[in-house]
Amino acid sequence: SKDKGGGVFHAYEPQLHVAAEERRVLEIALRAAVEKGQMQLAYQPVVNARTGGLLGFEALLRWTHPELGAIPPAKFIPLAEEARLIGAIGEWVLRTACDEAARWEEPARIAINVSSEQLHNPSFATLVAQALAASGLAPERLELEVTESVFLREGTAAVSVLEQILDLGVRLSLDDFGTGYSSLGYLAHTRFNSIKIDRSFVQAAARGTREAIAIIRAVVALADSLGMATTAEGVETEQEHEMVQTLGCTRAQGFYFGRPLPVHEARLIVSRNGNE
Ligand code: C2E
Ligand code: CA
Ligand code: CA
Ligand code: CA
Repeated sequence: SKDKGGGVFHAYEPQLHVAAEERRVLEIALRAAVEKGQMQLAYQPVVNARTGGLLGFEALLRWTHPELGAIPPAKFIPLAEEARLIGAIGEWVLRTACDEAARWEEPARIAINVSSEQLHNPSFATLVAQALAASGLAPERLELEVTESVFLREGTAAVSVLEQILDLGVRLSLDDFGTGYSSLGYLAHTRFNSIKIDRSFVQAAARGTREAIAIIRAVVALADSLGMATTAEGVETEQEHEMVQTLGCTRAQGFYFGRPLPVHEARLIVSRNGNE
């Protein structure tokens, strides 16, 4: 919230009111959305950055409200977190993605996004184990994407949940690397399989921004030496693809390779391309 200060507060009050009203409406709608079948997953291809071959998909949540239309996750995920609805929604995402991936003709990977709030639930690893058992999906085909915010809260509860997840054989990715309160310390105590480099760095690097290039180089070198993959996010153009190849990123994702797709289209791509 941008505080302009000095007596202008009243001018903002009606808008604040509208925002609060909109939030209330969205929150009520959100509570019923999963049960009403308004949530879907879109599957975005993740490829080998060198060859372009399919590695798997990231499942991205989509909510289409019958009257309000498509509501972007950037709007409803934070609300779901605040309203303590993310646990139920996240469990639906986990089960749906595992069930879907278990059906694919080839053993491509499936990545899902997990909010920090979910990882502060001490029985989250049990939910993951149940979703794997119910779907029959091999644990190494599942990747959970978490952001650095999971390490910000006090205590080690989330870290121990991450350890339990790793013990199941499930993979972990560090999402949006470089956009938060990055600390290399996490990389020393939690075994991430992949670091996802945020699209802002990828796009700046392709524009020739020296700092972005240097940062990606350093992240790739660090990941390589720790045996981790690096995923370049938000690759939209051929130039961006060339740049991330040159910089040695091992995986890539973005509109250049494929937009988030409906479930049946993702299934066709798996059948057609197999996986690496
Ligand atoms: P994210 O995890 O960083 O996901 C990548 C976002 O970038 C997605 O936005 C995707 O559609 C978009 N994207 C992919 N390629 C490109 C590209 O080439 N160019 C551009 N401009 N954008 C690209 P989306 O689907 O709107 O999701 C936004 C965020 O919402 C995600 O960011 C993630 O943080 C969150 N989110 C999505 N699904 C879930 C979920 O199931 N659970 C949780 N907790 N969060 C989710
Ligand atoms: Ca993600
Ligand atoms: Ca990301
Ligand atoms: Ca993000």
